[in-house]
Order: sequence, then structure tokens, then C-alpha cells
Amino acid sequence: MQGLMQRGELLISGIIRHAARHHGTTEIVSRRDDGRIDRTDYAAIEVRACRLGSALRALGVQPGERVATLAMNSDRHLECYFGISGIGAVCNTINPRLSQDDIAYIAAHAEDALIFADPALLPIVAAVAPKLGGMLRGVVVLAPPAEMPECRLPAGIALHCYETLLAQTAPLPEWPVFDENTAAGLCYTSGTTGRPKGVLYSHRSTLLHAMMMTFADTAGLRAVDRVLPIVPMFHVNAWGLPFSAPMAGATLILPGRQLDPASLLALLNGERATLAGGVPTVWLGILNHLRQSGESFATLRRVMSGGSAFPRALMAEYAARGVHVAHAWGMTESSPVVTWNAPKPATVALDADAQLDQQACQGRTVFGVDVRAVNDAGEVPWDGATQGNLEFRGHWVASAYYRQPETAVGPEGWFPTGDVGVIDAEGFVTLTDRTKDLIKSGGEWISSIAIENIAVAHPDVAEAAAIAVPDAKWGERPLLIVVPREGRSPTPEAIRGFFAGRTPNWSVPDRVIIADSLPHGATGKVLKTELRRRYAAPDAP
Ligand code: AMP
Repeated sequence: MQGLMQRGELLISGIIRHAARHHGTTEIVSRRDDGRIDRTDYAAIEVRACRLGSALRALGVQPGERVATLAMNSDRHLECYFGISGIGAVCNTINPRLSQDDIAYIAAHAEDALIFADPALLPIVAAVAPKLGGMLRGVVVLAPPAEMPECRLPAGIALHCYETLLAQTAPLPEWPVFDENTAAGLCYTSGTTGRPKGVLYSHRSTLLHAMMMTFADTAGLRAVDRVLPIVPMFHVNAWGLPFSAPMAGATLILPGRQLDPASLLALLNGERATLAGGVPTVWLGILNHLRQSGESFATLRRVMSGGSAFPRALMAEYAARGVHVAHAWGMTESSPVVTWNAPKPATVALDADAQLDQQACQGRTVFGVDVRAVNDAGEVPWDGATQGNLEFRGHWVASAYYRQPETAVGPEGWFPTGDVGVIDAEGFVTLTDRTKDLIKSGGEWISSIAIENIAVAHPDVAEAAAIAVPDAKWGERPLLIVVPREGRSPTPEAIRGFFAGRTPNWSVPDRVIIADSLPHGATGKVLKTELRRRYAAPDAP
């Protein structure tokens, strides 16, 4: 219709072009392996991403072809995000913490033409490369010539130096324009059961998700923010922060390999981070470090947490240290954010204790996606009590897994998450468990998250995990494994006693095991499969 609004394709290149033009001097900070801090800005990142686009074309990369990264969070990885997707190729971020077998599987399944790898991760590439013969044409080391490591690759796979490639290539004069429904990113699920499955993000889905992350009731990113994604860029695009920060003109602080609590705190404070995103395990480690060292947060005000439940008691401790923790819930399959915990008029009216309860749930559905909980009879009521299997759909939810058309998405697009939860009258979602982690005792469901939340509120407990163990009388009973805080030695009886009055008697764990540590998977989640193998097998101690 004449006079209608203009329409352009929603392309990821538009994000970096905007950042370079309107926030060109905004800083991008990267910590290198030796601890050195390097600084660049959005204007330079765009020029280098344009050079990379040219270089990829010169190496024969075609639109739609997959190009992998095996890298920690850095400016060079950021350039890969924009350079690869910018020419219409697909950036396949691979998690280097997966087994080499899974990494080889992913690179073969994706048919990656090139792999961009950090020098420190090159041994992984060298180990898997022989299994990728025929498809993999080259490996690009994300380093300057002086830092190029020795590496032997099979015949037919070329080794390139990233900085040399960029130096030799003139930047693209402009970003190509193509359909916004073109694939831009490919991320594989962590594969705790079975093989990893690929989720293919489009330019449009990535851009809309990034825009959502600038809403005031989500990450609310602003140009004056300094954002530190601790969540790796190989895990669901670091929750979209590397796209939403340039969209808002916010600084990105990229931590590289040193992800121990002391190094992270030094970077948060030294670089004046205002917002950071990471899984609860990371925040637990930082909190323990603060408790022991007596240090504090200098500028950090907001934390985005997801991947597993952030315990209520720790949220209170963060609040006392001046930091608001916001739960976001989602999955690799949903880009990932689907719910975010921000108040509504009804919840700000609650007393402080009830507000904290509210803050500890997984939040409410953001515009652009929808969530429901279902059981065999259909959608369950929003009463905060009736449990159902959570499903979502929307602009940044997968329609199927990559090259696996049999994905169980319903005709109306509802994606079964495998998470179980309740939704309250205000639309706030509380996750009770992964379907497979729920504990069914005497016909009643026990939420392992609820048990763990109580356990970590005990002053002697640093971390806790609850699993089901088979029981002749009740079917299953909860077993709790706790890791004590540094210098504390709680007894199992004291921990069990702590549950009195906090949860119904029948859901109090029968046994409490005190352990030195818990096993964590490639994305920081507690490996319940491993705990069940150790403690719930018939021959377990
Ligand atoms: P991933 O695809 O690796 O990001 O894992 C997604 C899964 O992590 C979800 O299905 C949930 O089981 C869990 N998860 C994500 N966010 C949260 C959260 N805020 N609280 C509890 N569990 C979460």
C-alpha cells in the first residue's frame, strides 16, 4: 500500500553497522591468556569483521556453509560472530569442554568447512581433524603471527593465522543484503543424554532476541552499561549478550580463559562492569571467594543468571552486597531467553520475604514468545500449584533440530522443553525440575530444586544436589549430596534437621551425603546422571 513504512531485512550485520556508526568509540575489552588486557572499539570491530568476511570468501566459503569456532570470549570471537554471519555463512560455535568424540561428531554433522580456534584449544582441533577428512578445509588460529603454535594437521587441511589473513585482505565495501530468514548461527545442545543436537538460529530470530534483551524488564542494556558475559560465547551465543550489547552501544568485557572466581572478580571490578551474566555455579564460586577474602563488588549492580536454578538464599546474599540477581529461563532451543524475572504491580506490593520468593522463580514470559504448562488433559491452570510440562513457541524458538526433522514440535509450534513447572496467576513460571530429575515418592512429586534451595540456605553448605534413589516402599526417595563451605563440617543429621518446618516431612531427604565437590558438565550444570551413577545405582555405597 502506498505510503506504508519502509522494510529492510533484519540482518545481524545491521547490529554491528549501527554500533560502529553510533557507538564507534565504545570500548570492547578482552583479557588474553597471559592476563594482559587489550582494548578495541565497535568501529574497529566492524572493519575487522568486514575484512574477515572478505577473507572467508577468498577461502571459498559460500553462503549457507558452516564455519566453526572453538574459542573463549574475546574480541576475535566477536569478529567471527559478525564476519561469518555477515556474508550469509553459518557460525557454528562448538563447546570445547565437550568430549573430543562429541566435538568431532558436531563438526562432522555440521560439515564445517573451517574451524577458527584459540591457540590454547588447537590441540583439540588437531586431535579431531583426522576424523573430519574431506569436509574440513582449513583451521584458522585466532592469534597474531608471533603467537602461532606448532600444529600438525592431516593433508588437505590448511593452517592459517587469523591476523595474517585479516592483514592481507581488504574489507568488504559493504555487507551483503539477503533474506532475514537465512541461517546465521548453529549451536549444539550440551548432549547430557545422547548425541548433541543442532539448533539453527536465523538472522531474524537473533536480531529479535537481541532487541528483547534491551527491554527495561529484561537485561535493559544501555549505552552506559559495561557488560561482562561470563557465560561462554560457545553456549547459546552467550545468551545473546554479544548481539544486544552492540545494539544498545554498551561496552563488552570479554574474560578469555581465566574463569576462576578471583580472576573474574578482578575483571568485574577492574573494568567497572555494571552487568554480568553467568550460570549459578559461577556466582556461587564468586560468593565463596568474597566471603573468604572480604572483598566486595565495586560497580556490579545486576546479574543475569540461567542454566540452572539460582538458590533463593544466595539471591538474598547478593542483594545484601548491592547486586540484584535476575533469573532468566530458556534453552539452547530458544536462543535462549523465554522468561525473565522482573516485578509486576502485584509483586512490588508484597512484603520483602514474599518478594524474594518471587525473585527466586524463573520469571514471566517476555514479548515475542509464549509459554504454557500442559498435562494429559491439556493446559494446566495458572494457579501456582498445578504442575505441568513446560512448552514454548515464538519468534526465537526452534521449529526442529538441524538435520533431524523428527523433532517433537506440535502442529501449533509448541516446543516440549523437558522442564516441569507451575505458572501462577500473574504468569510467573517456577521450574520444579527437569522431567527426568523429578523425584516421585509414594505417588507425590518432590522437586529436587526445592530441596536444593533449602539445603544451600544452611550456613555451612556451599552447594547441594538432590537425586532420586530407588526405594522398595515408596518407589523413589530423595538423596541429598552437599558440599560444605570452606572450613565448615556439617553433619548429615544437622542438615536433615534444617529441613524441619521448611518442607513437608515426606519430602525431607532420608540420607545426606557430605562430599568434597559435585560433578559439573560442559555448561556448568550439576551432572545428575553422574550423581545417580555414583549414589543411586544398585551397588552404590
Ligand atoms: P541449555 O540448553 O544448556 O541452556 O539448558 C537448558 C536447560 O537449563 C533448561 O531446559 C532448564 O532445565 C535449565 N535452565 C535454564 N535456565 C534455568 C533457570 N533460570 N532456572 C532453572 N533451570 C534453568
